[in-house]
Amino acid sequence: MKRIEEVLDGAARICIAGHIHPDGDCVGACLGLYNYIREICPDALVQVYLEPFSEHFAFLKGAETVNHEYPKTEPYDVCFALDCGDKERLGAAGSYWDAASKKVCIDHHVTNTNFGDVNHICPKASSTSEVLYELMDDSRITREIAECLYVGIVHDTGVFKHSNTEERTMAVAGRLMAKGVSSSYIIDETFYKKTFAQNKALGRALGSAKLWLNGKFIAGAITARDMQELGLLSRELDGIVDQLRVTSGVQAAAFLYESEAAEQKWKVSLRANEGVDVSKIAVLFGGGGHVKAAGCTMSGEWTEIADQLAKLVKEQL
Ligand code: AMP
Ligand code: MN
Ligand code: MN
Repeated sequence: MKRIEEVLDGAARICIAGHIHPDGDCVGACLGLYNYIREICPDALVQVYLEPFSEHFAFLKGAETVNHEYPKTEPYDVCFALDCGDKERLGAAGSYWDAASKKVCIDHHVTNTNFGDVNHICPKASSTSEVLYELMDDSRITREIAECLYVGIVHDTGVFKHSNTEERTMAVAGRLMAKGVSSSYIIDETFYKKTFAQNKALGRALGSAKLWLNGKFIAGAITARDMQELGLLSRELDGIVDQLRVTSGVQAAAFLYESEAAEQKWKVSLRANEGVDVSKIAVLFGGGGHVKAAGCTMSGEWTEIADQLAKLVKEQL
């Protein structure tokens, strides 16, 4: 696939969906594509379906039009799955996917299962937003589209610091800045700014942290009770795992939070420094992701889960 236009081919009803628990790349990519299609096919019906996401992204054009509910509707001509490695991660939007005449998967997860009719997967790209930029006609990218894609790149690269940040990533970010994106506003307001409760949660997670493998593996957790006390939702815990990862001597880090719905069920975020591939560990537990950032869900006491993870990290050292 070279251009978005190729797969649209006169489609009148278009659906865009991303993964459950949408992050900055997922929201940025979905809204970037939404605004682009509105620009190039103003007569098409375009609907975005995403689970509720952080208020930090509310300023992006079209954010208020995103559907968080999934009513029955006529099948779509084209359905896009963005930033999503497998069909299950589409969540409730999976029903639109199944019914669509054409299924187009655009992603950068190394664990992607190629579940579309058309699959455009670039595991080397920093983000799905970067992949999308390459599929768009630069001259039709407005400032608002550029803002969406810039948010996606900033979030998936941890503000251009993760090793997925390549020369091409910076070149694309530069092109987006040339469209009038306010880089420092986006970086501060959507990435670094935390509420008081979020900072407290970071404190609790760091306070709970333990080291394994002589300091090469670190894990920390937040219980459902912590989250309740602080009045926090899971989507507000972004960034904690990265703080664990930058502990000196650490080669891999895990952050676990207990799902609000079921006790002793933990969402596990894994991050790696040089020499460890956490996507291989996440897939063992039904999850997935990238070499240096992956996730899965596990059950039990969190320290026992971390024991298990430490053993798997050790096998790779
Ligand atoms: P997270 O730790 O949730 O920030 O996720 C890190 C990376 O792994 C992201 O790119 C996610 O999309 C991916 N990921 C997280 N959890 C899963 C999962 N259960 N299945 C597949 N990919 C996942
Ligand atoms: Mn994502
Ligand atoms: Mn991504």
